[in-house]
Amino acid sequence: MKISVVIPVYNEVDSLRELHHQLTQSLSPFESYEILFIDDGSSDGSVDLIKRMSETDDHINLIQFHRNYGKSAALAEGFKYAEGDYIVTMDADLQDDPAEISNLVSKINEGWDVVSGWKVDRQDPITKRWPSKLFNAVMRFVTKVKIHDFNCGLKAYRQKVVKAIDLYGGMHRYTPALAAQKGFSVTEIPVNHRSRNLGLLNTVVLEYFMASMIY
Ligand code: UDP
Ligand code: MG
Repeated sequence: MKISVVIPVYNEVDSLRELHHQLTQSLSPFESYEILFIDDGSSDGSVDLIKRMSETDDHINLIQFHRNYGKSAALAEGFKYAEGDYIVTMDADLQDDPAEISNLVSKINEGWDVVSGWKVDRQDPITKRWPSKLFNAVMRFVTKVKIHDFNCGLKAYRQKVVKAIDLYGGMHRYTPALAAQKGFSVTEIPVNHRSRNLGLLNTVVLEYFMASMIY
């Protein structure tokens, strides 16, 4: 069984080495895997770094856009090339934890077609968390897919799912709904979520500032 990890990258040069290190640890128990980095028009040296890393790691593949097309387009391109039986998506900014990959895979092995991550303890400022809660409530109501966190970057799919769904615009936020609409089974598991490397202090200060404006 082969795992493909599909990672959209837009100016993530500061996190890529550590991400690769953590991915290698998490993926080593699997008999076969590939890491597909889709560079979405980065201008910060991400491409050069991925190329350098791929010289010493055959698991790495790079797909390159000549300009910025957005996360949905990057994921769609990754889905096109992914060869794994299971496809795992994650963000490149280290907020998603590669250690969760084995948990997502175990859940797929129970028979599900899509397993979506649920950032139970989400490490983002209130300005992101509150609109997201509203978005998810509306999505649950409209789509009848009963999960908490449609837009989690960390997800796992059977290959037949990613080959069947069509992503463009901002559609990456709706993949569980798109999959359910095509008759695939969808579930979720709680996943660890980490704060952006901005640092904890900045997040706390920003939250305090936002809260004081609201109350
Ligand atoms: N990303 C991308 N193209 C873009 C914006 C973001 O490929 O135009 C990538 C980014 O590098 C990261 C993931 O998509 O791997 C999520 O981006 P971000 O962390 O900015 O989004 P958020 O966590 O706020 O949803
Ligand atoms: Mg992020």
